[in-house]
Amino acid sequence: MVRNRGCGEISESDIGHDLTLCGWVFRRRDHGGLIFIDLRDRSGILQVVFSPDVSGDAHARAHDLRSEYVISVSGKIRTRPGGTENPNMPTGMVEMYVDELKVLNESSLLPFTIEDAADASESLRLKHRYLDLRRPEMQRNLIIRHKVTKVIRDYLDERGFIEIETPMLTKSTPEGARDYLVPSRLNPGHFYALPQSPQIFKQILMVSGFEKYFQIVKCFRDEDLRADRQPEFTQVDLEMSFADMKDVVGNIEEMLKRLFKDVIDVDLEIPIERLSFHESIERFGNDKPDLRFGLELKDMADLSEKGTFKVFLDAVHSGGRVKAINGKGMANLSRKEIDTLTEEAVSFGAKGLAWIKVKSAGGGGFESPIAKFFPEEILRQMAARLDIEEGDLMLFVADKGKVVHDVLSRMRLELGKKLNLIKPGYRFAWITDFPLLEWNDEEGRFEAMHHPFTSPMDEDIERMLTGDVNNKNLLGSLRAKAYDIVLNGYEIGGGSIRIHRRDLQKKMFEVLRISDEEARIKFGFLLDALEFGAPPHGGIALGLDRLVMIMVGASSIRDVIAFPKTQKACCLMSGTPSPVEPKQLKELSIKIDLS
Ligand code: ASP
Repeated sequence: MVRNRGCGEISESDIGHDLTLCGWVFRRRDHGGLIFIDLRDRSGILQVVFSPDVSGDAHARAHDLRSEYVISVSGKIRTRPGGTENPNMPTGMVEMYVDELKVLNESSLLPFTIEDAADASESLRLKHRYLDLRRPEMQRNLIIRHKVTKVIRDYLDERGFIEIETPMLTKSTPEGARDYLVPSRLNPGHFYALPQSPQIFKQILMVSGFEKYFQIVKCFRDEDLRADRQPEFTQVDLEMSFADMKDVVGNIEEMLKRLFKDVIDVDLEIPIERLSFHESIERFGNDKPDLRFGLELKDMADLSEKGTFKVFLDAVHSGGRVKAINGKGMANLSRKEIDTLTEEAVSFGAKGLAWIKVKSAGGGGFESPIAKFFPEEILRQMAARLDIEEGDLMLFVADKGKVVHDVLSRMRLELGKKLNLIKPGYRFAWITDFPLLEWNDEEGRFEAMHHPFTSPMDEDIERMLTGDVNNKNLLGSLRAKAYDIVLNGYEIGGGSIRIHRRDLQKKMFEVLRISDEEARIKFGFLLDALEFGAPPHGGIALGLDRLVMIMVGASSIRDVIAFPKTQKACCLMSGTPSPVEPKQLKELSIKIDLS
């Protein structure tokens, strides 16, 4: 098929040339004598004109063209007549006058139009994904995704990283989510797990001496889905030998800098700012802070103690917290609006929301059912701590620390959006100094905050090796050589320096109450490998889907994945998952019990 160029590439330098173009009928306008078609292919859109003066035959047949017919047109590129140019379109100065039209295929009536602002429901879009992906916005998203992986591969290759594939049919990995299982026909009753990450294999590759590994790899986690999760997702996974945190962090920063410049022409400032886990929780209430706006959480425990409000005093005296944020410019909310805000706080887990309206900053302007419990001077100090100006609203939550932080971090985000405080741009941060372990109240034991192969900080190693596995205070105080990277309020990656000593790994399992036997069954091959000269090593994995989502400005990762799944983990286009033939189950020695 002869096709000289892409529709979107045609420019004034093509004027006077005879070209042949192919594509889909995007829009069609019948202006009596002339018929205009916006012809679309991957490269963009060009206006093509059918005139009876140029070709009576092509003009006559153009009447029958409908949306999404596939056509080929030949003709001369001309400048658009004065006054009909469209400066908003890259090809808006030119058009093709068609002297030959071929209809390559017809199209049925569409379930929705292929316009950029898709007004169809997402489920309809997902069911007809082949059409949804024709939308220029989706094409752009996937093309940017392609460029992102290309730049990453080039960068890592130049830095001596080697891409090595690890198995998809494997054993359960310790990332803490549920596994997707695959039955083994040849080993009845035995199952593979799809990898939650290549964690163990990449560590083994370090033991094997590859020194720098990476892989752009599908991972699988059977979790309840949220807006920014998918059951299968892609990680940029890497691991380095003889590396400390500085090396891993430095490589990722350089890579991101190059990525943002080459793909979306944004200059990132590196080094990226660092916050300790503790500081992030204290200031923003979570460990993936959105730094594009303020409204930081402020501790009010000391000032609470200078008043007589029982809810605050009880929280402080029972080891809880009282913290507040500034509801900027919200002092004029009605009682009903404040009730709605309170309901929101309750839905986030708070028992209630205390508030003080600040009508005039100077003094005397505090309006609140709780104002009477505090001397005026204390109210003023509270206001000063929150950078309150006239017309602002102080919002307080008092409870256990975790609840206070959860609720206020979510309220902060809601208010940031509602009050339009979020500045455009890309705000990265590294979160460091994580605790090594996290207490699980339900199970009455510690869990690894990242995964059980994460190394404690050097200064904590001896304390851990010699410490009593029942000493909760000691274990709770250990810190990890772990780091997360956060962008605009999303965790886009995380990693750690690993344990490479057999004795320390053994102790880690003891602390986590994983028996020798269980450790052997689950990760015996890694433990064996650690016996044979494992170099110090560490790495990281970035979530490619989230990263691309933020780079293209999409609001869902489904918009940067060609064939994503729904919240219920279904593919609406292919109808996956689906029942299978009884014969297949029999071969796999599987019986279904839906009771
Ligand atoms: N395997 C980890 C994860 O998937 C990343 C890492 O530690 O390198 O979160």
